[in-house]
Amino acid sequence: MYDCIVIGAGVAGASVARRFADAKKSVLVIDKRDHVGGNVYECYSNNGIRIHKYGPHIFHTNFKEVLDFLTRFCEFYDYRHKVQGLIDGYLVPIPFNFTSLETLYSPQKAEEIKKKLKENFSTPKVSILDLLSHSDKTIKEFGEFVYEKVFVHYTAKQWGIPIEQVDKSVINRVPVVLSYEDGYFHDEYQCMPKYGFTDMIDKMLDDENITVKLNKNAQDSFSFKEDGIYYEGEKVDCPIVYTGAIDELLDYRFGVLPYRSLNLVFEDMDIPAFQPASVVNFPNSEDFTRITEFKHLTLQESPVTTILKEYPAKYDVNGKIGNIPYYSIENAENRAIHDKYREYLTKYPNFYLLGRLAEYKYYNIDVSVKRALELSDELL
Ligand code: UDP
Repeated sequence: MYDCIVIGAGVAGASVARRFADAKKSVLVIDKRDHVGGNVYECYSNNGIRIHKYGPHIFHTNFKEVLDFLTRFCEFYDYRHKVQGLIDGYLVPIPFNFTSLETLYSPQKAEEIKKKLKENFSTPKVSILDLLSHSDKTIKEFGEFVYEKVFVHYTAKQWGIPIEQVDKSVINRVPVVLSYEDGYFHDEYQCMPKYGFTDMIDKMLDDENITVKLNKNAQDSFSFKEDGIYYEGEKVDCPIVYTGAIDELLDYRFGVLPYRSLNLVFEDMDIPAFQPASVVNFPNSEDFTRITEFKHLTLQESPVTTILKEYPAKYDVNGKIGNIPYYSIENAENRAIHDKYREYLTKYPNFYLLGRLAEYKYYNIDVSVKRALELSDELL
């Protein structure tokens, strides 16, 4: 009936659907939610502020082809994301940079550290782990300070485990910056869709070759039989691209894949602005990790505002809170569980895993799109 079936209408699924539609192939997209967009979906708060219902999403990329593809569906405005962290009573730039350093150290000590850093590193940013293991005493002590003030407690709060147990790739998402550069990201292209991500995805899916069915759970519609995969009782021969959690789809038959979740608490406020940056991190205080004030992201003008506090939570598919899998938890044990699912799926050569949930990877938006484009091109 269709040339491709895509499960999940988030950025990855919508990108595949559009690629197939562009090639004049018919695509069915199903999603269990009552809206498209996956976790980049936006809606409006009671204060009329456009908010990211599933937590803040910011676009940044070095992949020109990803930007070019998305630009077909929306206008982008330049947006350089800035984050501050509350450390020892001061709001300082995160990633930790020379401004952060000068705020938290005496002028003399700050000069000594900057001099040492400049002598020992030629790159504009470094990993906190490289500072920690450095042979120079001043650099090592500086590394220990930043590790303690920025990383140790935030990471324990975010992941619910000590920082030593968190994969290094997670810690290395946030560097230490050896300059006054105060952007959160360092990619060549940093911009946001003018009318939001949901509008962008609506436009991606708006094609005569694409059929979208919402409120449709894949577990109820698909069955994996000896001779192939069935959709609503009919055997499917076309490619099926799955972007959800694979353990859930396959009834946890090879074990539960652990995810980290969040309890997202929005607050409307009758003030024009709450904080000086889009995001303020609380590495060493509060039960939430960060506060996002959306009007700084969306550049929406309003006399009122809406903020979001993110409380990390254990993932529980049936829980009242924490029932959305936001982050995969990268380690060898969990990768081995995922490998068992992948191994089983080799029996079904028309079934493909794609995106942050299905591949169990900490992908940013741009990488999800990039992988979607690569997979589509391979399939087409
Ligand atoms: N992190 C931290 N302190 C911070 C910001 C980030 O320790 O102030 C660590 C933490 O382990 C976090 C990781 O860096 O999970 C990645 O941060 P990022 O901002 O990329 O997380 P996301 O926006 O994807 O939740």
